[in-house]
Amino acid sequence: MTDTRWNGEPCTALRLTAIVADIDAFPQYWARHLVGTRRNVVRVEYGGETFYLDDEDGSGWNKLTHGGSPHWAHSNIVIDPDSVQLRGHRADPDKPCPHENFDAYVEVNRVTASDSDATVIGYAADIKVNCRECREPFRWTGVPAGCSPRQPMCSVDETELRAPLRPASADPDFGLGLPGFAVNYRSPKEG
Ligand SMILES: [Zn+2]
Repeated sequence: MTDTRWNGEPCTALRLTAIVADIDAFPQYWARHLVGTRRNVVRVEYGGETFYLDDEDGSGWNKLTHGGSPHWAHSNIVIDPDSVQLRGHRADPDKPCPHENFDAYVEVNRVTASDSDATVIGYAADIKVNCRECREPFRWTGVPAGCSPRQPMCSVDETELRAPLRPASADPDFGLGLPGFAVNYRSPKEG
């Protein structure tokens, strides 16, 4: 087992992933913009206390494996205890990931008439899905690349679905006057 220390004294540390939570006590909480996203963290048990360090850039684990002295920077992070998972944990690491759990990232945007006209003329949901364990992105099937107010389309790499949507009470043709674009592919033979 790797020697992990906090302030030079042995501590128990475990590399995990967890979903970032908010904390009211720190108005300047550095990770507030990350709340709701899954990150690499390290759980530290030391002196009867349990706390978490951010480890997305490896800084948490680096500190603990270098004696845990103040010389090594770290970032405390607050996480949702129900979201904790072992990092890259699989029954057999030589077998491909069975892709059993997923994280979906959904962002709903309001589309305004122009920079100077704040009238909302449409809405769009951008949706991405990753395997929670191996982080492999998933691609959308059967969706053309581009962006359209008339139908769901996807990014060129097919990992982000861009789906127009409208309030339930709006007319069916809501937002259809918006411009869009399509990305077309041609094989070299057709060129
Ligand atoms: Zn996977």
